[in-house]
Amino acid sequence: MAALTDLSLLEAAGALRAGEVSSVELTTACLDRIRAVDSRVHAFLTVTDELALAQARTADERLGRRTDELFPLVHGIPFAVKDVLCVEGAPATAGSKILEGFRPPYTATSVSRLLAAGAVVIGKTNTDEFAMGSSTENSAYGVTHNPWNLDRVPGGSSGGSTAAVAARFCYAALGTDTGGSVRQPAAFCGVAGLKTSYGRVSRYGLIAFGSSLDTVGAIARSVADLEPIFRTMAGHDPLDSTSMPTPLPEFHLNGDGVRGLRIGVPKEYFIPGLQAEVEAAVREAIATLERLGAEIREISLPHTDLALPVYYIIAPAEASANLARFDGIRYGPRRGPGNYPEDYFVTRGELFGAEVKRRIMLGTYALSAGYYDAYYGQAQKVRTLIKGDFEAAFESVDLIACPVTPTTAFGIGAHGDDPLSMYLEDVFTLPANLAGIPALSFPVGFDPTRLPIGMQLMAPHLAEDRLFQAAHAYQAATSWHREAPPL
Ligand code: GLN
Repeated sequence: MAALTDLSLLEAAGALRAGEVSSVELTTACLDRIRAVDSRVHAFLTVTDELALAQARTADERLGRRTDELFPLVHGIPFAVKDVLCVEGAPATAGSKILEGFRPPYTATSVSRLLAAGAVVIGKTNTDEFAMGSSTENSAYGVTHNPWNLDRVPGGSSGGSTAAVAARFCYAALGTDTGGSVRQPAAFCGVAGLKTSYGRVSRYGLIAFGSSLDTVGAIARSVADLEPIFRTMAGHDPLDSTSMPTPLPEFHLNGDGVRGLRIGVPKEYFIPGLQAEVEAAVREAIATLERLGAEIREISLPHTDLALPVYYIIAPAEASANLARFDGIRYGPRRGPGNYPEDYFVTRGELFGAEVKRRIMLGTYALSAGYYDAYYGQAQKVRTLIKGDFEAAFESVDLIACPVTPTTAFGIGAHGDDPLSMYLEDVFTLPANLAGIPALSFPVGFDPTRLPIGMQLMAPHLAEDRLFQAAHAYQAATSWHREAPPL
C-alpha cells in the first residue's frame, strides 16, 4: 500500500472498513507528516494531537464492534479546520492577535456534524486575519507557503487549510469563502475547493467577517473526496437562522456526468490581465467537458466588473459591525492603561493588523450617516443587478465555467503594500458570493513553472449537485488532481 498520507479520502475510508488500517494509524501518519514537513509550509496554527488521537481511538472502537452499523464515509478520517471556525478544546485565533488565547466553549455546527459522523480534527489552520486577504500573508502568525513552490503564497484566506490538503497533512479541510477564500487557494494549490450556497451550511461557530457573504466550504484532493464532507456538513441548523431547510437533492457522482448539460462561458471572465497559460488551460478544460457531452455556450454577465467595487463596500461595512465586539473586554487580551475608553483604543490599535484596520475604517465610513446611501445603499442595489445577471444566465444554461484567478500563485511579498492590487486577485470569485450561489474550483493544468491552474464551475443557488456531477465527470476523464507537490 502507498504511504497512508498519499491515500485519497475514499481510499482511506475503504481501507478502514476493510480492516486494513485503523483511524489511529491514519491519524498518526498525518501527525508524523505534519511534524516532519510543516515547519516548511506552516499550514497549522495548532495541531490537536491529543484530541485527534482520542477521537481516532473512539472511531476505531466503534468500527471494531462490528455491528451492522453503516459508517459514514468520513468516519475515522483526519481533517483540518480553518482557525475562524470554533472547535471546543482548541484555540481559535482567526489569525489575529486580538483573539490570542481564546478558547471557544462550543464547536461550529459544520465541525460538530463531521465529529458526530466519526471524523477526526487534526488541527487548526492558518488564515489571513479574520479571513481578510488572498494570500494568508495577513495572518498575525506568519505566512503559509505553497507546497508546490515554497516561495509562492498558497492563496487565501483559507491558505492553511488548502496547503494542508495539498501537502498531504490530512484528507480534507474546512475553509470559509466570503469572496473566494476557498476557491482561490484551491486553484493555487492544485486541489478541489467548494464554496457552498449561502444558507446551505450553518455559519454557527464561524467567527463572522461579512455575514451576508460568509459561507463554510471544504477542500479535498478530488471532487469525489469532497462530496462526503459536503454531505455531512450541509443542512438546516436551528442555531443559524439563515441556514436553509431545503434538503440536498438526490445525486450520484457516477450518474449522467455532463451529458446534455448546458455550460455557459461568460465572456467578461476572459479579460486582459488573464495569464495566457491560465486562459489556455481553462479553455482546454471546457473543451474536455464538451467532449464528455456538455453543450458549451458563450454567455454574458454584464455587471461582472462591478463586483469588485461592490464587494469592497459591502464586505468592509459588515466587517466593521462584526468586529466591534473585539474590544479587549469580552475576548482575548487587553492592552492600555486600565481604564475606559483608552483600553478600547489601545487594544484595537495594537492587536488588529493593518488590513483589518483598513477595512474597519472603510466600512465605518461607508456606513456613516451622510454616506450610507451613496456607498452601502448603492452597493446593495448593484449587488441585486449582479444577482440578476446570474438568474438571467441560468435560464439558458445549467452551469457556468470560468477561471478562478487571473494568474497562478504569486510570490510571497509580491503585492507588498499595495492592497488594491491584492484585491484585484478576487475579480473572478467575488460575484458568486454577492449572488449567494455555489461554486467549485478544481485543477485543470499547470503553468510552465509547475504551478497549478484552477477552473471554477458555478451553479444556481442550492444546486451543488450539478457542480459535483460535472466536476467529477471531468476528474474521471483527467488526472490533474492526482499530481502531488514535490515535498
Ligand atoms: N480576498 C477576499 C478578501 O480579502 C476574500 C476573502 C474571503 O473570502 N474570506 O476579502
